[in-house]
Amino acid sequence: MAALGGRSKGLLTVAVVAAAVVAAAVYLIFDPAGSVFFPKCPFLMLTGLECPGCGTQRALHSLLHLHVADAVRYNALLVLAVPFMGVLLAALILKSRFPGFYAKVNSATAAWTVFAVVVAWWIIRNIAGI
Ligand SMILES: [Zn+2]
Repeated sequence: MAALGGRSKGLLTVAVVAAAVVAAAVYLIFDPAGSVFFPKCPFLMLTGLECPGCGTQRALHSLLHLHVADAVRYNALLVLAVPFMGVLLAALILKSRFPGFYAKVNSATAAWTVFAVVVAWWIIRNIAGI
């Protein structure tokens, strides 16, 4: 894929931020727990087991209402991931100033660590029922 130019990159950034704001507004206004419009987890419906993302929509709704304990109960990994996503965003924004930091948080080691945490969360939540 060709690298984006400055103008295209700016438009892409605006589109991503606008989509995030719209999504946040939807999850702020509507409660996924009581709405039929939000998608249900196909893995849960098929297996009866929770996937790593189960509860994410309800957790987002709770976080946007600052109900952190409820968000943890719905999906603790999502709540723990929020600061990590902040670090990723900071690394991206500060990429030209701190290229070593950007390289570390986007390294294969970091990606494999995230993968291992997600798989561990997937197993633990189904064994421990959290
Ligand atoms: Zn799921």
